[in-house]
Amino acid sequence: MDMVIKEIKKDALAEGIPIMLDDGIEFLCNFIKEHECKKILEIGAAVGYSAIMMANVDEKINITTIERDEKRYLKALENIKKADKEKQIKLIYNDALNINIEDEEFDLIFIDAAKAQNIKFFQRFGLYLKSHGFIITDNLNFHGLVDKDLEEIESKNVRGIVRKIKEFKEFLLENNDYETVFYDVGDGISVSEKIKE
Ligand code: SAH
Ligand code: MG
Repeated sequence: MDMVIKEIKKDALAEGIPIMLDDGIEFLCNFIKEHECKKILEIGAAVGYSAIMMANVDEKINITTIERDEKRYLKALENIKKADKEKQIKLIYNDALNINIEDEEFDLIFIDAAKAQNIKFFQRFGLYLKSHGFIITDNLNFHGLVDKDLEEIESKNVRGIVRKIKEFKEFLLENNDYETVFYDVGDGISVSEKIKE
């Protein structure tokens, strides 16, 4: 890992930004390499760490990434510039549920944003995924909470998010347009291949 990305990572962790865990980002980058993904859409840029890591896999990779938080968006802009990845990464400042993508076809969509909205992101952006492309979603374990019974979770807020993640996993299992495999790496990752032609 080069110095710039090390610094970006250190700053993000110091600021409490929930960037991908080491084994999660390693899994994602290996996946991109193995499947030769070249057009990638990311929901949830935060400060640009994962987008820069993905762009580093291959210079032919192009990434569109979306962030709705102004402070993080500005930091991501700065980081992308610092990492010299402006040519490869297009950063959009908006709520992902508000934007319209102009009929692009992505090889990979990486969902790493508001955990309660995963079904919405999946349905909305799945339209822009090519056949046999992949949707990868992060944080399906939510620090181990998703394995617990809902009654065991005290905070009402947390319980709501956990319920949504459980619903999302059900949604993936029942979705016949995609074939999903769950991986216990990072904070829990799913890989869904679009099998619909
Ligand atoms: N992928 C990043 C971490 C993302 S953290 C990395 O690993 O480096 C999740 C981010 O998603 C947060 O910064 C949050 O502001 C953003 N987010 C959540 N819901 C969103 C939405 N609907 N549209 C755009 N960004 C969203
Ligand atoms: Mg995450």
